[in-house]
Amino acid sequence: MTDLADNPLLQPWDASYGLPPFEQVMPAHFTPALETAMRAHNAEVDAIADSAEAPTFANTVAALDRSGRALTRIELLFHNLCASETSPALQAVEREMAPRLAAHHNAIRLNPKLFVRLDRLHTDRASLSLRAEELRVLERLHLDFTLAGARLSASAKQRLAEIVARLATLMTQFSQNVLADESSDGLVLRSERDLAGLPEQVRGAAREAARVRGMSDAWVITLNRSLIVPFLTFSDRRDLRERAFKAWVRRGENEGPRDNRPIAREILALRHEQATLLGYRNFADCALVDRMAKTPAAVAKLLAQVWEPAKAKAAAECEALRAMALSRGENIALEPWDWRYYAEKVRKARYDFDEAAIKPYFPLERVLAAAFDCAQRLFGVRFVAQPHLKLYHADVRAYEVRDRDDRPVGLFLSDNFARPTKRGGAWMSAYRRQSRVDGEVLPIIVNNNNFAKAPEGEPTLLSADDVRTLFHEFGHGLHGLLSQSTYERLSGTNVLRDFVELPSQLFEHWAFEPVVLERHARHYQTAAPIPAALVEKLSQAQRFNKGFETVEYVASALVDMAIHAQEAANGVDISTFEKDELTRIGMPREIVMRHRLPHFGHLFSGSAYAAGYYVYMWAEVLDADGFEAFVESGNVFDPTLAERLRRNVYAAGGTVDPAVAYRAFRGHDASVDAMLAKRGLVEAQTRDLSAAAHSARL
Ligand SMILES: [Zn+2]
Repeated sequence: MTDLADNPLLQPWDASYGLPPFEQVMPAHFTPALETAMRAHNAEVDAIADSAEAPTFANTVAALDRSGRALTRIELLFHNLCASETSPALQAVEREMAPRLAAHHNAIRLNPKLFVRLDRLHTDRASLSLRAEELRVLERLHLDFTLAGARLSASAKQRLAEIVARLATLMTQFSQNVLADESSDGLVLRSERDLAGLPEQVRGAAREAARVRGMSDAWVITLNRSLIVPFLTFSDRRDLRERAFKAWVRRGENEGPRDNRPIAREILALRHEQATLLGYRNFADCALVDRMAKTPAAVAKLLAQVWEPAKAKAAAECEALRAMALSRGENIALEPWDWRYYAEKVRKARYDFDEAAIKPYFPLERVLAAAFDCAQRLFGVRFVAQPHLKLYHADVRAYEVRDRDDRPVGLFLSDNFARPTKRGGAWMSAYRRQSRVDGEVLPIIVNNNNFAKAPEGEPTLLSADDVRTLFHEFGHGLHGLLSQSTYERLSGTNVLRDFVELPSQLFEHWAFEPVVLERHARHYQTAAPIPAALVEKLSQAQRFNKGFETVEYVASALVDMAIHAQEAANGVDISTFEKDELTRIGMPREIVMRHRLPHFGHLFSGSAYAAGYYVYMWAEVLDADGFEAFVESGNVFDPTLAERLRRNVYAAGGTVDPAVAYRAFRGHDASVDAMLAKRGLVEAQTRDLSAAAHSARL
């Protein structure tokens, strides 16, 4: 079994597209194969670093991009199986190998001889006659090494390594504390009186939470968003809503062993030290270097454009909620624990429709066909089923993607159903990334969803949210499939964090376009098209409560940027900081941050979204403005625009600066107007009316 000569991970993979030999691979094959491939990668990197030749683009940058192919191939398979089809044996390998793989890649970035060569090329880059893509890959690689600490003295590298290790421990503690607080009892309900207003589904979930805790004859509302939010939305008991809400927003802020305040303070202090070691004034400056926004000032400008209109909209919503309360004879000062409750009453009065009425028009097979059809109408690509390919699970479907001239573009795997061996959520990933540094390598892209599979013989019906999710991930999928990069480092979704959601969020817009619904949203039994009235209700409900949602989101993004711009060597007390900052920006008293700092996992359970919570809105500015181009053209499948979109966004990957790429597609920079309009934060009459009418969408 562990004999390397028999290890299928180390043999040539000669199935179509170089698909992994799924049927032969066992968990025990991974550790020895990864070790062998890491050694081979190190030998390749050492050969580059130790070369006696003067550094050139070819012998250093291109050679690095080419190195580690055997390792990449196994790593991608490993990560994909861990996510989509895991097992206790594979999880054990994961616990052992995840830190070793991270250390392997980090050591390469800290290889001093390698960096000397890279740095020389970077210094001389203007005189090397590089093509634009070559210059781009050199710059990206150099920045990557620099931010890992490649430029530092040996002692500073040592300190940076200590900081990184300590941060990993602190971030794990932070996240485990939040998890523990969220799974705590929260609120125990004992009688019908306590349950007043709660729908059957919420009662069932609360009953199950009690059963798990060994409580009979009780219902438990945990502090997990999936249970507390429905409780706050439906419970008629204002006193219980208040108690539950106060416990919920205090997650991570309770005295004792699970107090996240000292942990966050230390994380902030270490991040500040890390940033100053790397030569930046504060962490926010450092984090923004590798983003499309480039500076905290650019983020501040975006958020400022949204903040005041969002507050105004929320104030109007608040008035409507007060009026609703009054109409029910409840003359109260609206508190944060009342918002969701009265908002639900207003929503029901204005747009009532049943999710169950929508689902029959969205059977999974038709929705997938709709996504394929949109890709074909926009980009000319066809999806051809490949039922003969051997994959890792019987539910996964493979499609060869062919271009207009019938040439293959890549392979698309569609893995839609939830199962115990798959992690939650929805995501796109690659088994092989496109590149052509060593001949044309076509991508193998997978989309994972977690739809509940219907019983044998029945179609799986999707909710509106599911439909949006499928189109979102399919947009990421197209980003991987349509890639036209020379270097793997720049291919597909290898783009900056505040740009990566553009291709996915943009593709969502087509899901609910009238012309798409007309063709594809048909009743699974009668084939009748979805009624226009239902589409209209869906579309209107889209803008409901957006003032509230925008305020809770933008407040979180503003506090994130502000706290990571702090330059205090000992960190700051997050509770005091948050309170002062919210006062400064004029937070409405009826709304609380979407994530308060003591449980803000995006910021403190990992570093990827620290000084980066804004990225969702940054991408939303781009996707709303980008789709507006199609609306303005009067044809949501306008061929000229679609061709520009394909070339400059979906095919370009990271080969071009994202601002340049966007401008090449759109003809100008994105403006925030379309995003503000989509969220209902500006008056419709300020926009072109025919465009507004045309853009009626969910
Ligand atoms: Zn996404």
